[in-house]
Amino acid sequence: MRKEKEKKILPTLKFMLKTAVKNKPQLFIAYVLQVVVSFSQTMVNIISSKYLVDEIAAIIGGGKAEEHIPTAIFCIALIVGVTLLAALINYLVNEIKNVYSEWFNEYFEVGLSEKVMKMDFEHTEDPDTLDQMNKAKEGISWYSGGVVGILNGFFNIVSNGVNVLGVIAIIAVTCPLLLPIQIISLVLITIFTNKSNKLDIEYFKKLSKINRLFAYFFYQLSDPSNGKEVRLFDSKDMMCDKADYYSNKTIDTFREQYKAQYKYMQYSNLTNGLRDGLSYFYIGFKALTGAITLGDFTMCVSSASTLYWGLYSIVDNIAATVKACGYAYEYLKFDAISDRMTKGDKPVSDGEHVIEFRNVSFKYPRSENYVLRNINITIKQGEHLSVVGLNGAGKTTFIKLLCRMYDVTDGEILIDNINIKDYSDSEYRKLFSVVFQDFELFAFSLKENIILDEQEDEEKLIKTLKMAGLYEDAMKLENKLDTTIFKSYDENGTELSGGQQQKTAICRALYRDSPIVILDEPTAALDPVAEYEIYKHFNELVGGKTAIYISHRLSSCKFCDEIAVFADDTIKEYGTHDELVKIESGIYSEMYNAQAQYYVENVS
Ligand code: ADP
Repeated sequence: MRKEKEKKILPTLKFMLKTAVKNKPQLFIAYVLQVVVSFSQTMVNIISSKYLVDEIAAIIGGGKAEEHIPTAIFCIALIVGVTLLAALINYLVNEIKNVYSEWFNEYFEVGLSEKVMKMDFEHTEDPDTLDQMNKAKEGISWYSGGVVGILNGFFNIVSNGVNVLGVIAIIAVTCPLLLPIQIISLVLITIFTNKSNKLDIEYFKKLSKINRLFAYFFYQLSDPSNGKEVRLFDSKDMMCDKADYYSNKTIDTFREQYKAQYKYMQYSNLTNGLRDGLSYFYIGFKALTGAITLGDFTMCVSSASTLYWGLYSIVDNIAATVKACGYAYEYLKFDAISDRMTKGDKPVSDGEHVIEFRNVSFKYPRSENYVLRNINITIKQGEHLSVVGLNGAGKTTFIKLLCRMYDVTDGEILIDNINIKDYSDSEYRKLFSVVFQDFELFAFSLKENIILDEQEDEEKLIKTLKMAGLYEDAMKLENKLDTTIFKSYDENGTELSGGQQQKTAICRALYRDSPIVILDEPTAALDPVAEYEIYKHFNELVGGKTAIYISHRLSSCKFCDEIAVFADDTIKEYGTHDELVKIESGIYSEMYNAQAQYYVENVS
């Protein structure tokens, strides 16, 4: 257990010190300066006070004032001078800490975001990784205080440690029995604080999960875009109940934690009281029996007080630093999540591309069941393939495997006869323009949402907008293509309809101009006429490119060269529309006829 703790604390401390020295060495120097200043001030105050009191006592005792006053004035000047200088330096150091505290918070946030964007996609669908990310986020910032929080604790220990060593030397000479009293109480307080801190970490982990769930429901409740669902499905009470449930759970957990920690707080208070009583009885007895001078008495009282507060502060800061490192360690743990996917380095060749799935089978990580089995399909350059099947048939999974968001469990996927695992990641991703059904638009301008990282080309942009049937709507917006999407971040922004959002996502894929275009049910929010228009234009625009469409509306399959029907974890039927509708009791023909009938019934 102890070893396990050390494994968290030391690497975290090392990481924080390294991060500070590497990025902002000024901050590290500021901390060292503060340690030196604190030690000088402590020693000057204690030793000067002893001489000051002894000189004053000598005058009171009948000594010549002119012999003792210069030393007394020098002692006062030294105490005042050092105190003022220390105050100035501490002020400057605290300023530096405040500024860099914010800087490091952003540094870690960027680090986390980069990790999330670069890690294997499968991690982003793993609830354990999402929980770990949440713990890392909370642990590295406000729970631990980040670099400045942890270094504050660490340098407080160093500073108090140096001060304590100084006063121990003084006490060892003047009143040595004070040392065991302080040390025994220190050991006891350390035990109680550690036990209490263990409970803190335990409850932090419990609360992190509850908070994530509460935050989800709270977000859903306050998200205006959920307004329709909440009203029409009358789900307000159900949502509020769920948020209430997790809110109550949070309060109960806090209450439970407070109860569990209360007894350790009382034990610590008792130990503190006993230590104080014994210490002052001992120093007072020595002074009364004349074993020490009046100056020694003052020095001993100050040293005892410094030793007391120094040790208290060390215990407190060790506990706080251990606790903070425990929280911040969650960041190191998240950062250490390793990727399983091998990274190739082969470049993708220019020109035509042939895709081949060879005996591909796949099951999701942490799942026992195969979602796809023995998929064999070749998609030639320029072919337009339609992928159809009922919900859950594995259509999106097929696309995810092709885009290498997951690696196949068995078999292989080849592009131009090379296993896709051998291609360089960034080169490989350039092959695809994909619109998933759960695409994301950002609170940027319409134009930025479409262009993203690509080169800006006005003519191509307008052509794309026209192809997707979005041009006229876009021209009606207040700032045309520069209008911000969503109102939450820009009061002049616009809320696009579901159909307009899908068209924007389609524009994004078209604009990217990759050799393989994939549309995963991107037209679900469009009416049949708008969908028909899109597919008609699409074939024009996609032209010689390879295209894969997943669509529930089988009328769109007519535009495709081949159709793959997914059922029972595999491709059950494959061929052109004309071939497949002819298969009696075939899956495709039944689905097609069911939909055709639906349209006829609706029209009549
Ligand atoms: P479709 O696109 O045909 O509706 P999917 O490919 O989305 O089907 O899903 C196929 C099966 O895989 C479903 O049973 C679904 O529940 C499961 N599945 C999808 N994503 C995951 C995931 N990340 N982890 C585990 N199972 C998943």
